[in-house]
Amino acid sequence: MDCLFCKIAEGSIPSRKVYEDEHVLAFEDIQPQAPVHLLVIPKKHIASLDEAGPEDAELLGRVALAARQAARDAGIAESGYRVITNIGKDSGQVVFHVHYHVLGGEPLGPLVA
Ligand code: IMP
Repeated sequence: MDCLFCKIAEGSIPSRKVYEDEHVLAFEDIQPQAPVHLLVIPKKHIASLDEAGPEDAELLGRVALAARQAARDAGIAESGYRVITNIGKDSGQVVFHVHYHVLGGEPLGPLVA
């Protein structure tokens, strides 16, 4: 499958990893939109949250907890941060492998500009 984040998950495309376990990978976004901008993905290919099923419940919980851990490790947990996932065309999703953006390190302003 021609999926950028699958290739990052398997290591054939390099990334700046900040967290990894058997199921989940977190790495720095290549075009950061905040002082801290991380992406957290399941290693399993799921195109977006809308494509997830009940069988993915535990895995998505792992992704959420990895986002929490990555934020703590990046030093932004105390001041606060944002976790978002884009789904489909109107959201601006460009990589169709579910990923949570973890943004922080400065006041973020309103969610929708
Ligand atoms: P989306 O709009 O939610 O799909 O966000 C995709 C994100 O992936 C964007 O913030 C991009 O900057 C980021 N991105 C694209 N290619 C790479 C890469 O090779 N490494 C890290 N981040 C990437």
